Amino acid sequence: MTRSARRAAMLVVALGGAAVVLKMPWPSLPAHTPAARLGLERWHASDTLGRGESLAALLGRRGLTEIDAAAAIQSLGGLIDDRRIPAGMQVEVHGDSASQRATDVVLRLSPDKVLRLRRQGDQWTATEETIPWVTDTVLVRGVVHSTLYDALDAGGAEYLSKGARTELAWELADIYEYRVDMSRDLQDGDSVRVVFERSTNPANTNRIGRILVAGLERGGREVQAVRFVHADGKAEYFDASGKSLRDSFLRAPLSFRRISSVFGRRFHPVLGIWRSHKGTDYAANAGTPVRAIGDGVVIFAGRKGGYGNCLEIRHRNGYVSRYGHLRGFASGIRDGHAVSQGETVAYVGSTGLATGPHLHFELLVNGVQRDPRYALRQSAGVALTGAERRQFDEIGRVALVALDHASGPLRTAAPSAPAAPVH
Ligand SMILES: [Zn+2]
Repeated sequence: MTRSARRAAMLVVALGGAAVVLKMPWPSLPAHTPAARLGLERWHASDTLGRGESLAALLGRRGLTEIDAAAAIQSLGGLIDDRRIPAGMQVEVHGDSASQRATDVVLRLSPDKVLRLRRQGDQWTATEETIPWVTDTVLVRGVVHSTLYDALDAGGAEYLSKGARTELAWELADIYEYRVDMSRDLQDGDSVRVVFERSTNPANTNRIGRILVAGLERGGREVQAVRFVHADGKAEYFDASGKSLRDSFLRAPLSFRRISSVFGRRFHPVLGIWRSHKGTDYAANAGTPVRAIGDGVVIFAGRKGGYGNCLEIRHRNGYVSRYGHLRGFASGIRDGHAVSQGETVAYVGSTGLATGPHLHFELLVNGVQRDPRYALRQSAGVALTGAERRQFDEIGRVALVALDHASGPLRTAAPSAPAAPVH
């Protein structure tokens, strides 16, 4: 069965108003297959508009009379200019077998939008229809061999389109950004499991909706993230013991989704020739926003030897974060300026002793460079209390059970608008 035939099958089902997408591909019937032989009262055929081919020619090829084809095209009216329909557009013709005559022509404008031309008597009318996305809940598991992307590529290929797998990795990195630097802290054998809402359109493109619960296992220890919505409607993630994943420091000065040039791979420890290297290097495109890892006050913003353009922020408890090789600073960044966690403070560059664009990051504790992986190791965030705590315990119990399922869809919901990404 061809891909287009499968799409056509899903289209037919979705247009019929059914809430489920058939697992069994719908057979694509050749035009004018005798109904008696198939035992069907309706027939349909799908076709693709060829390069330079007119819609009239395609409809003629699919059995419409010249008069029907002309009337069908005329019904398009202002909805679409039939001379500007792009080659490659999928067109379906449906008919009833008794008369052998076409009753419907469906033009697929985009994965979730079609134009339906319907005949009643000799009159054709056109309407635009939006095919709903279908949202279900899916569990994906992955084992890390090199990166988070690879883990989800291997574990999620069956359930998610490529772009959606990348989006899922980004969303996960965001959830754990106070605990784990996904670009550096993962090791071979670490694993991830995640339950999330998946929206699927008739062309089998997926979008990631809310992540409901996740588990990230590193070195044999798993930290769970359970989504909880506060009374004010704000969502936040908590570990299994009801403590927030948020904390006073982000684990990385660049958002995982912004580290594009090397796409989250482990970085060469030293890109430039810079002796007594005491920091962490992040390869990223010039201009990538650099964020403050925590609330603090700028104590230095200017040139500093091999660091090039350098920014230093003083945080509480004797912590200072230092960002080097910067192309420049965000507006307003100067000595004495207060910054908040996650705020864009500068941009990646290659000033100073750097062979290419990257961010040099240092964490100093009481004036001494320390490895952020250990120095920023979180104790635990703020815990839920009272009624919220009781509510969370209920949600957490269900969520952790879901996490133990086998990979695949857990539950199917009604068609809906695509779930909006949650940040
Ligand atoms: Zn460096």
